[in-house]
Amino acid sequence: MADRTNGQADLTVRAPAKVNLCLEVLGKRPDGFHEVRTVMQAVSLCDELEFRRRPDGHVGLWCSDPQLPLDERNLAMRAARLLQQRLGVREGVDIRLRKRVPVGGGLGGGSSDGAVTLLALRELWRLDLTPQQLADLAAELGSDIPFFLWGGAAQCEGRGERVSPLTCPRPMHYVLVMPSCPVSTAQVYEAAKNGLTTSSAASKNVITALREGDAALLGASLRNDLQDVALSVCGDLLGIWRRLQELKAMCGAEGLLLSGSGSSFLMVFRGATQANRAGRILSSGVQVPCAVVHSLPGWHDRFSLLTIGRRQL
Ligand code: ATP
Repeated sequence: MADRTNGQADLTVRAPAKVNLCLEVLGKRPDGFHEVRTVMQAVSLCDELEFRRRPDGHVGLWCSDPQLPLDERNLAMRAARLLQQRLGVREGVDIRLRKRVPVGGGLGGGSSDGAVTLLALRELWRLDLTPQQLADLAAELGSDIPFFLWGGAAQCEGRGERVSPLTCPRPMHYVLVMPSCPVSTAQVYEAAKNGLTTSSAASKNVITALREGDAALLGASLRNDLQDVALSVCGDLLGIWRRLQELKAMCGAEGLLLSGSGSSFLMVFRGATQANRAGRILSSGVQVPCAVVHSLPGWHDRFSLLTIGRRQL
């Protein structure tokens, strides 16, 4: 589609990435999904979406990443169509999606785009949706999408759709190391079936660390049941992991972990100064794109936190 929205958007919003600070695989469910318990936190690396209403009911999508589909396989498009179908919306929209969160990086960029599209269109199309209806639609779109209705930090259970917001009064500081070797989430979960967690100690420690703003405790408590499997299915990732472990002490990192099913790693730092310095060391040390980020507060009921621009309607 031609880029029709540039410069004339009704609403411009950011769609933040997330990191998994703890990901425990509890078992496999009869419906084929895995039962998980994960602590996720939204961070300041964001995609950007522009929305422009159109009266003819058509949903158009333009995306800066030519590799991504523009049909219903794209979660922004799927979210818009789902709202139209379920709520009988006759209006349409042009969506312009600028990707900055790497695709397939375990940072939830696609899920965030889907959730933010639900929130933006609820406003633009003036939809009368209860929080529960919105949560149900989000869960239907994907396991991680309900988290992105909340943002901030949250513990997510079930297949990820049961979201319990967490307290995190102080910003946490991370460097994301983002190799361009997408890892198949399905393949990693399939291979993870033997290493199932039974104790909740790791997530409890992570939750305490966020509540107390304790980067050292957070770094020591990081856990990802998918990490070893992801490293074993992707040789390049294993090489980067080993190099990051060598650099970890030199960078002053409190901890290192694979986010989700990969391929991105996160490193925890005490403050912005340490993270900025480490970002420079890491990008030359591993020759992989890095981003220095901080955690974001929750935006549930505060959609304005995601809003970059709005045209008076
Ligand atoms: P997941 O663990 O759900 O695969 P991820 O965090 O590893 O997510 P994403 O970038 O969120 O990575 O999702 C990657 C997959 O989602 C790809 O198959 C991609 O084609 C699909 N996808 C659909 N819509 C989008 C979108 N708007 N941005 C990125 N990926 C999208």
